[in-house]
Amino acid sequence: MTADQSGPGQTGEDRPGSGLGRILNRRRKTGRPERMRMLAVGGRTLRVSVREGDPGWPPLLLCNGIGVSLELLQPFVDALDPRRPVIRFDLPGIGGSPAPVVPYHLATLPSLLAGLLDQLGYQQADVLGISWGGGLAQQFALRRPQRVRRLVLVATAPGVLMVPASPRILLRMLTPRRHQDPGYAARVAGELYGGSARKNPTVARDLLHATTRLGPARGYYYQLIAQLGWTSLPWLPKLRPPTLILAGDDDPIIPLVNARIMHRLIRGSKLHVYRGGHLELAADAARLASVVEAFLNAEPGEELAMTQAPSTHLGESLGTDFFSVREQFTDEEWSRFITVRRFVDEEVVPVAGAYWERAEICWPLVKRLPELGIVGEDITGYGCAGMSPMACGLVTMELHRGDGSLGVFLGVHAGLAMHSIAMCGSEEQKARWLPDMARMSKLGAFALTEPEHGSDSVALETSARPDGDGWVLNGSKRWIGLGSVADLVVVWARNTEDGQVNGFVVEKGAPGYEARVIEGKVSLRSVWQAEITLDDVRVPAGNRLAGARSFKDTTRVLATTRSTCAWAALGHATAAYDAALRYALERRQFGEPLASFQIIQQRLVSMLADLTAMQLYCLQIGRLAEAGRLTPTVAGLAKMHNTRKARAIAADARDMLGGNGILLDYQVMRHMVDLEAIHTFEGTETMQTLIVGRQITGIGAFT
Ligand SMILES: Cc1cc2nc3c(=O)[nH]c(=O)nc-3n(C[C@H](O)[C@H](O)[C@H](O)COP(=O)(O)OP(=O)(O)OC[C@H]3O[C@@H](n4cnc5c(N)ncnc54)[C@H](O)[C@@H]3O)c2cc1C
Repeated sequence: MTADQSGPGQTGEDRPGSGLGRILNRRRKTGRPERMRMLAVGGRTLRVSVREGDPGWPPLLLCNGIGVSLELLQPFVDALDPRRPVIRFDLPGIGGSPAPVVPYHLATLPSLLAGLLDQLGYQQADVLGISWGGGLAQQFALRRPQRVRRLVLVATAPGVLMVPASPRILLRMLTPRRHQDPGYAARVAGELYGGSARKNPTVARDLLHATTRLGPARGYYYQLIAQLGWTSLPWLPKLRPPTLILAGDDDPIIPLVNARIMHRLIRGSKLHVYRGGHLELAADAARLASVVEAFLNAEPGEELAMTQAPSTHLGESLGTDFFSVREQFTDEEWSRFITVRRFVDEEVVPVAGAYWERAEICWPLVKRLPELGIVGEDITGYGCAGMSPMACGLVTMELHRGDGSLGVFLGVHAGLAMHSIAMCGSEEQKARWLPDMARMSKLGAFALTEPEHGSDSVALETSARPDGDGWVLNGSKRWIGLGSVADLVVVWARNTEDGQVNGFVVEKGAPGYEARVIEGKVSLRSVWQAEITLDDVRVPAGNRLAGARSFKDTTRVLATTRSTCAWAALGHATAAYDAALRYALERRQFGEPLASFQIIQQRLVSMLADLTAMQLYCLQIGRLAEAGRLTPTVAGLAKMHNTRKARAIAADARDMLGGNGILLDYQVMRHMVDLEAIHTFEGTETMQTLIVGRQITGIGAFT
């Protein structure tokens, strides 16, 4: 698989109507003659456009999406090599083709395409189908494989057995209104087509209206019902022509997972994921035309070599979202989510395993975090991200989907250390430390746990004695994330005067502070925890957190991060599930893909059901946090539920990968063991259970 690193291209984001401008410009530039004519094929009359090419070049036959006339693909045609002959046509009742008297079905259309090629004198063609036309192209290649030299499937799916779009999108697709009403087309373009249409809906309007011909509404409905009951899914492994699948990472009509499933099932297919949505083939034609050209021009056999080894994309997300949780995101949440998702897929997943194996912090990735604008979580001001609780959760989920160590790195620095200062620091303290921490020019740590006090950290023994104009700290801490590399360590210690737990910021280089990295870990290997000793460490009075007066204040900080663990668990579980599904589709035993066995399907569905429940837990704790109603007990319940389910999903996924399941390349085992730490820190599963138990029975079983 290849992933397009470039953005959605120069779509003229600030220039309404620029899509049309580019179309006209390209037409002027290429100047290849195009002939439009009406042809009678198999008892139907079709409006057909043929661009002449050079002799000896195989023609490219384009099959269009629902309701659009052949003009929609003009920018794409103009961006292709001018020597390539191109055939386009309007389906019956679409654009300039007269509506048929009786409806038709997709399964019967291969003979129409074969007849069209016969009339034009071509024995074979390269076939490209977009969206609805992708179904037609698949059907043609399955039924008439000898007529198809190479197949390109763009923004398309295997018919009724596809992972569907959200109900809202499906409803909008039921009518041809967007083709009839330019204002409506512009209004719905972003939501419907995604990609560049989100920023510049007028491009979609121009493409659908300024350049295409409108047919009767009947034509649209005929095309809609033509695909009823049709699927290619069971037959995809039998597709013979070399196939390129092009799919956008933000296509609301055809979720990306469909392309990945097709890629698994079509042997030797090449998947190219581009940045953008449903209309990018026309809206950003030059970029995608070059991908198509490379595929069509490759020597026979070479196009298969373009497919990468399976392990390289095992960590990427299939975008599991059965209950349409994503529809509830605000624009801000969506944009944070997509930003981090891309970062994870493109930058984190490819390197996470190697850093994990070497037990090294991945500093290049750490440096990217402030550039992504996600440091400082929901803290407002001081250069912090100021995200909504939901956006914070989504960022955590995505980071952990890629690499638990990176997620924990940010969780310790921002979730624990920065939050301690933001929640318990004076205004002067916040202004002194938070801006540097938001830039990550200063790193933070949070030191609560002690060798003798983990679950009962309320009984911590580290002492803080007032001495002149400051404090003297003594004691030891254990398991302190970033304790050996941090510039500012928030140390929780007992005030010798009143016996209450207070918070102190110990700055790097303070005499008496020693940190030793805990070695031999088999979880979260690329983030370091330290064993710390505090031997008469002097802390200036101004470094005592003004609002940290008792252990209750420590608990306030922990309550915010406990919910983070629920999101983190969701990220790990998503990665494990993705890998299991991918592997099941790809791995063949007893002559069939694993995914074809009932027990495997049952296990995948059970994982999916748990995953969906975890998503709903996260959605609701996000909402409660937004409303200021997230209690420590509810956060604890979510942590307990999600880490428990995530561990089960990861263990199941590991098993489903067989021997490969224990290899780092296949990602799952890393997620499985990383989850073990999340299961334990910030209150073990047992402790969360006891906390919830105390709430529902009124009886404390541990204090
Ligand atoms: C990777 C990692 C990173 C960490 N990062 C930090 C950090 O940055 N800062 C920090 O301060 N701490 C950190 N911790 C510490 C973490 O919060 C503690 O490990 C955790 O709270 C559990 O404490 P413990 O390890 O001492 O286990 P213990 O408390 O000794 O528990 C051992 C077992 O006994 C069970 N148990 C305990 N009490 C009861 C009871 N009353 N009834 C029944 N069962 C009970 C527990 O559930 C557990 O199964 C980190 C830990 C890990 C592993």
